[in-house]
Amino acid sequence: MSGPKRQLTCACCGSDAGKWHQHFNQDTGYGVCARCRDWIQARGMDPGEFRQTYGKPGVNYEAKQVQHFGRLFTVLAEFPEQNVAAVNRYCEQYPGAAVLVVGGGWAILADVSDTGVPVKETK
Ligand SMILES: [Zn+2]
Repeated sequence: MSGPKRQLTCACCGSDAGKWHQHFNQDTGYGVCARCRDWIQARGMDPGEFRQTYGKPGVNYEAKQVQHFGRLFTVLAEFPEQNVAAVNRYCEQYPGAAVLVVGGGWAILADVSDTGVPVKETK
């Protein structure tokens, strides 16, 4: 992560990918939009490989968020919960990554420094 945020174009579909930091593995001015992020991840690309290619969620592209005990966390990566080896590999490769929650068949990783944002009450 370096330099200011800039307007990015999605490398997959060419649409607006939002304003994020440039990831070194993408051509200058290119990132990934939320729709293509979901599409690529749903096709089963390994989260470590995704991060290598597109960067860090919430830094280089729009992050997914997960609600956990009334707080919103930025999802770093999601793995099928039985795939412990892949979780460990990711955590080893990207220090600071930690398992936030395991359940519903998935292990969700967040940054250890992410303390979550309280979910706004709707009255
Ligand atoms: Zn796209």
